[in-house]
Amino acid sequence: TTARPPAPASAGPGVLAPNYEPLHVVLVSGEGSWVTDVDGRRYLDCLAGYSALNFGHRHPALVAAAKEQLDAITLTSRAFTHDLLEPFARAVTSLTGTETLLPMNTGAEAVETAVKAARKWGYDVKGVPDGEATIVVASGAFHGRTTTIVSMSDDPLTRDGFGPYTPGFRIVPYGDADAVAAAVDGTTVAVLVEPVQGESGVIIPPADYLPRLRALCDEHDVLLVLDEIQSGLGRTGTTLAQDLVGVRADLTTLGKALGGGILPVSAVVGRRDVLGVLTPGTHGSTFGGNPLACAVGIAVADLLVPGTLQARAATLGAELRARVEALLAEGLLASARTVGLWAGLDVEPSLGMTGRQTCELLAAHGVLAKDTHGSTIRLAPPLNIEREDLDLALDILTKVLRER
Ligand code: PLP
Repeated sequence: TTARPPAPASAGPGVLAPNYEPLHVVLVSGEGSWVTDVDGRRYLDCLAGYSALNFGHRHPALVAAAKEQLDAITLTSRAFTHDLLEPFARAVTSLTGTETLLPMNTGAEAVETAVKAARKWGYDVKGVPDGEATIVVASGAFHGRTTTIVSMSDDPLTRDGFGPYTPGFRIVPYGDADAVAAAVDGTTVAVLVEPVQGESGVIIPPADYLPRLRALCDEHDVLLVLDEIQSGLGRTGTTLAQDLVGVRADLTTLGKALGGGILPVSAVVGRRDVLGVLTPGTHGSTFGGNPLACAVGIAVADLLVPGTLQARAATLGAELRARVEALLAEGLLASARTVGLWAGLDVEPSLGMTGRQTCELLAAHGVLAKDTHGSTIRLAPPLNIEREDLDLALDILTKVLRER
């Protein structure tokens, strides 16, 4: 055997790159909506892995599907196929009312895939001159961390220092269909937005925004691409957030909850003729659509087919809304937005508390949530959270805000 070289003197603090600043909670186990730390303290998980844990921690059906697949085959690469690849595509397209699926792993990869498909469709089908395709995106959006995706961001923290940037994106204000209309021209291949902006603090656009974008895209032969990586798969009380306004995108990106909180699974679903431009050799992924991912993804789709989880998100979401309105009335929140079981809460500035401080106090009282953009905290508990647990989390939030 070869001796391992000694660890450098710096191993220890600093061994992990500093690109995150987590709350000081060291978790060792999770079940349903609850997680436990190294000291045996229990917390209610009201972030749910940024909606990757829509079904809670270690959902029995998802764990069973993964375990069964671990004993069969876990990876083939796309050089070969396997028995769950098409069933996965059928399950997710049938759940989402779409035609075709292209499997990837992370959310950012799904967005990259949608960008590539839209550009290629623009050149091959729409006839945009090569290299001139433009995509209209929204300010405040979050679509991931790759160099191309940070090129469509206007958030300095996400973007600055990572140039040179990928050209071809036009950033317009979110929720403003007129601004999109003004930005669209003959080079435009797609409008790419989140139906509800998640990282921005659960920003809900006007009800006519997506229908107007749909009409605009139809009129100008432009693809409507909706990033449902955070908003999709039950969070809004519907299977997709776009269902709330009866719009169907040409391409929809899915991720996070598609992997059931077990492994990264993402996909682009949508029009066959559009995804059809990605012919053999033009796009791919070693791990995309692997058997383990497909087994879990099928089990995720099975959980959502009956619609009970979506209905539960809507029902519990109404209760969440009522509690948030009470916090607003009491002057503890400056403003708030909720849709389904998802809330962005802006802590009243006169309380003198940043979102981070609020989340630290919540954690000290046994509730995990995440701040975003200064004084905003986001609540996105598992869709199957017990009603009493949701009440408990909101009681604790109320107490933390009142005791300032
Ligand atoms: N798109 C949206 C709307 C997201 O919220 C995220 C992650 O937060 C992503 C894309 C990127 O996903 P991932 O972190 O899996 O690359």
